[in-house]
Amino acid sequence: MPAPQPALDRAAARLAALLGEAVEVLLPVECAVCRAPGCALCRPCRLLLRRSCARPFEASAAAPLLEPALSVTAAGRYAHELAGCLLAFKNGGRTDLAPVLAACLATALHHAAPAWRAAAPPGPVPGPVLLVPVPGSPAALRRRWFQPVRVLLEDCARRGVLPPGTAAAPALRHRHAAARRSGPAQKLLGAAGRRSGPAGSLRAVVRPGTRCVVVDDVLTTGATLAEAARALRDAGAVVLGAVVVAAVRAPAVPPTADSPPHSGPFW
Ligand SMILES: [Zn+2]
Repeated sequence: MPAPQPALDRAAARLAALLGEAVEVLLPVECAVCRAPGCALCRPCRLLLRRSCARPFEASAAAPLLEPALSVTAAGRYAHELAGCLLAFKNGGRTDLAPVLAACLATALHHAAPAWRAAAPPGPVPGPVLLVPVPGSPAALRRRWFQPVRVLLEDCARRGVLPPGTAAAPALRHRHAAARRSGPAQKLLGAAGRRSGPAGSLRAVVRPGTRCVVVDDVLTTGATLAEAARALRDAGAVVLGAVVVAAVRAPAVPPTADSPPHSGPFW
């Protein structure tokens, strides 16, 4: 009998971590941004990264395929140090960057959390708000052997920096290609969503009424977040919003230097 998918995911993540540690021993570590030797992210680049993620912002207005409307909080803009770290983490196998990127994510989660409480339906609180990572495609998982967003959320959970009343929960799965073609979800996202590709690609396993927040790495058009929210809602969940590490497009009204930075014990 084949092992269930969550067990395979955990095994792949453990293997990726072990391989990463082995590579660190065999190869000299260098800064993922400026290539200074000696550490995953040198102090100047770390300070710049921290500054770029100090003022999370609402990014949904710049995502044209995000339908229906969903509030999306981004830790920072997909540029400079943040883009360099995300690329190195996701595509360069630099899992040693997980703690610094998890700190960016934690800052955005804490910034967004008060709005989730306001968006939740009235009535008794049925358990924690689930922070649901968007899974990478099966092809991406074969290529990189770990789920980037899930690793970041689990790093936050391990260090106890998730917002109170929340829990990480990998409740989204990719459908098999055959089920995707025949599924009804293609109708639900409209023409723009169908063009973008992911419509109907995800399914969710949650109890009806569960309050969820979708978590992803990069916001581009919004089609992936829309599909994740659609899958969770189809399963009966209440989707309170979404959080991403980086947004490709800047918001129409960018955060100003006067807006207070979010401070948290995440770094
Ligand atoms: Zn550097």
